[in-house]
Amino acid sequence: MPIVDAVGSAVVSFTNTTQGHHKMTIRLSKAGKMPCRSWSLQALTTCPGSIGDKGTLVDACKGCYATQGNYRFPNVKQPRESNQKDWKRTDWVSDMVAELDNDRYFRWFDSGDVYSLKLAEKILAVMQATPWVKHWLPTRMNKFKKFHAVFAEMESLPNVVVRYSSDSVTGEVVAGRNTSTIVASLDSGNSNLTICESSTRDGKCGPCRACWNQDVSVIAYPAHGKTMLKLINLKEVA
Ligand code: SF4
Repeated sequence: MPIVDAVGSAVVSFTNTTQGHHKMTIRLSKAGKMPCRSWSLQALTTCPGSIGDKGTLVDACKGCYATQGNYRFPNVKQPRESNQKDWKRTDWVSDMVAELDNDRYFRWFDSGDVYSLKLAEKILAVMQATPWVKHWLPTRMNKFKKFHAVFAEMESLPNVVVRYSSDSVTGEVVAGRNTSTIVASLDSGNSNLTICESSTRDGKCGPCRACWNQDVSVIAYPAHGKTMLKLINLKEVA
């Protein structure tokens, strides 16, 4: 039975398993906005795709929500740091599959990214073994060629959307079957984009499941937070 602990707007559930003398845990979180649970890592340190050609953070990661607010609290950071070690366990895949027994939607990485090819292969195994769960995996790791084969295998599954994130904060899109970008406001003026309307529902997904829908090509998230809006204003002035 998972222990559930409320942490600010995030709820973290712990499932204890034992390996050797060490007690290891599957630690899932639930952001207030989302209709489902997530498995996450610490932002930026597990996001090699957040660094651009000039060696600095790409625009989309400059105002990253996962480095602000509740995400800075030690009790929210700790499960993410623990997960970075935990996925290496032999039983991690079977423990994740058991943990997802009653889930219908799942989001990988409400913070962090699939920084390791071995982790990507394990996540693929979880996806293959849980056809009753719709998986959404947002990532920038498509920038690295060695991930292309494993992402293609994930995308061949009917229950998976791998959504490549654009670095842009002004609506530019990247290649891929399913992608996302950031726009200044709800009124992007680009009819090719599906706008995330969570801001009209008190910041919640409500009945929308567009992020998990393979037929929704590009989702545009309206920018929020002072840092992001300032960045967009500077770009518009330039
Ligand atoms: S597009 Fe829909 S599913 Fe995706 S984050 Fe926005 S409200 Fe949630």
